[in-house]
Amino acid sequence: MKGEKGFVFKNWAQTYSCMPELLFRPETDEDIREILDLAREKKKTVKVVGEGHSPSDIVCTDDYLISMKKFNRLVDVNHEKNQVTVEAGITMNDLNKLLKDNGMGFSVLGAISGISVGGMISTGTHGTGKNYGCSSTHVVDLELMTANGDIIKCSRQEKPETFLCACCSLGSLGVILRVTLQCEPAFNLLSKVYPAELDDILEHLDVHLSSSDHFRFQYYPYTGKVEVFHDSRTDKPIEKKKTSWFWDTLCGFHLFQLLYWISSFIPFLVKYVNHFIFWLLHSKQEVYVDWAPSVFNFNCLFEQFVNEWSIPRENTALVLKELQAWIINNDYPAHIPIEVRFVKGDDIYLSPASGRDVTYINIICFKPFGKFVPHDEYWRAYQKIAAENGGRPHWAKAHGLTGSELKTKYPKWDAFCQVRESLDPAGMFLNENLKRTFN
Ligand SMILES: Cc1cc2nc3c(=O)[nH]c(=O)nc-3n(C[C@H](O)[C@H](O)[C@H](O)COP(=O)(O)OP(=O)(O)OC[C@H]3O[C@@H](n4cnc5c(N)ncnc54)[C@H](O)[C@@H]3O)c2cc1C
Repeated sequence: MKGEKGFVFKNWAQTYSCMPELLFRPETDEDIREILDLAREKKKTVKVVGEGHSPSDIVCTDDYLISMKKFNRLVDVNHEKNQVTVEAGITMNDLNKLLKDNGMGFSVLGAISGISVGGMISTGTHGTGKNYGCSSTHVVDLELMTANGDIIKCSRQEKPETFLCACCSLGSLGVILRVTLQCEPAFNLLSKVYPAELDDILEHLDVHLSSSDHFRFQYYPYTGKVEVFHDSRTDKPIEKKKTSWFWDTLCGFHLFQLLYWISSFIPFLVKYVNHFIFWLLHSKQEVYVDWAPSVFNFNCLFEQFVNEWSIPRENTALVLKELQAWIINNDYPAHIPIEVRFVKGDDIYLSPASGRDVTYINIICFKPFGKFVPHDEYWRAYQKIAAENGGRPHWAKAHGLTGSELKTKYPKWDAFCQVRESLDPAGMFLNENLKRTFN
């Protein structure tokens, strides 16, 4: 298996980059084994990249980088059990289409489907819905190639401890080759979208959580307002959202970038931009029906820095109110939106929802037309609020915590580290990001 020199990796938001010594694009198990053999011989570390969407340096390496883009085939569809087995490099976009052709779909998805199955489960990617766990909870079994080239197959029945580590491993245990995922019969979602007051939503959070399958909201700093989304399974036929390509692409996309670009020179304008966007786009109710992935996925607009934490559910209002107060008291130019989503607790060792139901709260700082907008102060303030209220950072996203702090947040931390050290004693799969995390 020949490696390529001179490849420059950049993540989706162009916020992190690296130049690995060699890039490999394997197509078979044997190709991957050869790369690991070479890495052992040359004493190199190895990092795997799926679609490179993670907004952090989690994929960056100076040594060997394995791209899974060509390791992306459908292996098996089990109609009886509504399960699908795929190679880990397949994108969710491709998989959603394959599933649709087979009358199936995922119970829940995150905001985008341009990510790979391997990347999605390795960072515990989540959607929303109080009865729905993160993507790692949909794994039925998986196959992992470890540093010495062995292939381990694990599930809840077979090597359960390895399985509970591998379902959300940050890429630290080896190369995930194949994954069987639990799906359900394909369904449409009825989506109701409407404006509301943040205080009202927080006061009646439990009612909202129970009144649809997939509840989420987006808070617009300085407006006191939120855009509410209630999505539920329906037998109704598709009746698409009324959108205009001209408005969405030309006006929406470029207008927002222009407004945030101008406000990067005159920060006090941000609060007025937030009010304007809310008034323009979200002051009306909208109801529509669509194929589930088209509702689960949403437009994340343009390049951005993000900072997302999972908070114990009972601290949702506390964290949002503290964050709101910090923004207002510091007159801080906080971009829209602050995304609030809900995920069911699980038993996966390093899942940010391990052992508790959580609320994910995500703050954003756009890069209008690629321009860097300083956000350190905002990031530090949110991290402090989140960490003090039981928060755990989203693994894909940049955060300032190190192993000693993370260890106190995960009851199964030591058990995970033992499994990691036994599967990869020489640390072949540790890059700088994972060294900060595990050392
Ligand atoms: C616009 C946008 C929207 C997003 N929306 C959401 C959202 O709604 N919810 C959410 O939770 N997250 C969201 N994310 C984060 C995203 O889901 C994660 O970053 C996810 O990991 C990206 O998948 P990827 O294939 O790009 O993985 P990469 O970024 O390529 O890799 C992520 C990690 O997985 C490891 N990895 C990948 N493939 C394998 C493999 N086969 N074997 C072993 N390790 C592997 C990598 O080594 C790395 O550690 C979003 C990101 C963007 C840019």
